[in-house]
Amino acid sequence: MFKVEVGVRYKRKIELELISTVRNIYVKYKNMETKTFKGKAIYQPNGKAGEYSHWACNFYKGCSNGCTYCYCKKGVLKKTIGGDTPTLKKCFKNEAHALEIFENELKANLPELQKHGLFFSFTTDPLLQETVAMTLSGVYLAVKNGVHVKILTKKVNFIEQFLCNIVDLDCGNIACGFTLTGHDELEPNASTNADRIESMRKLHDAGFKTWASIEPVIDFRSSMKMIANTYGICDLYKIGLESGKKYDNNELIYFINHILENCSKLDGNPVHYYFKDSLLQQAGISRADLPSNCVGRDYNMFNE
Ligand code: SF4
Repeated sequence: MFKVEVGVRYKRKIELELISTVRNIYVKYKNMETKTFKGKAIYQPNGKAGEYSHWACNFYKGCSNGCTYCYCKKGVLKKTIGGDTPTLKKCFKNEAHALEIFENELKANLPELQKHGLFFSFTTDPLLQETVAMTLSGVYLAVKNGVHVKILTKKVNFIEQFLCNIVDLDCGNIACGFTLTGHDELEPNASTNADRIESMRKLHDAGFKTWASIEPVIDFRSSMKMIANTYGICDLYKIGLESGKKYDNNELIYFINHILENCSKLDGNPVHYYFKDSLLQQAGISRADLPSNCVGRDYNMFNE
């Protein structure tokens, strides 16, 4: 049974910080050497976004969900992508032009995209009223070309439109993700967490892959509740802390131990978790020491 002992974690934490610094320098150097693809619609994210997905698509920037912790509305990103209204990126003349570029970039990178999949989106909620039509068009083109897609949203209003428009696609190639914090008051214009869970249930029952972004953890109790409430309808949990926020390390260790001891198997099958690098680093845990249901960055939920 996996168990993190609180007494040994400080030494490990220092070791992991060192490893992380060396790895960041290596990744930066490697990226400079290998040149990642940066298209107008499709690109290979780096840094923290790169940990989330190898490939991503952004048609719009700006988001009306109004989350108080929004990473797009902080620091240097605030001016470039932090608006409250989703707007088509300036590099596109209009939606038709954006889609034409998307298709060209998709086809130019097809083998890699077929291997890793495509994530929608880092600069907006891809299923807002303003963004859903383009997202559906992108999803449609991607899946028709053998690329599986991952969508992350806090909205549920799209479900009917979504299901109506993709009837001829294999829904097993589409992973619908919902951010679940358990804190509606911090996400004033998003659908409620309860409604998101209900939609996850419907999509799971309809044959879609489903996943939950338990990020940012606002408090451990709420995050544990979100996991408990989606147990059995969620194929993958991705768990991360809020950047720059201080957490009690003993509570963090308890949280991880609780998940791994109580929520790792369902009907004999493993439940999969991805703990983000920064969370493991803060906890003083090496990914290599985690049990096998705790997957790495390259885990492909479409192979299950
Ligand atoms: S849904 Fe995402 S992009 Fe939109 S406001 Fe919330 S955190 Fe920001």
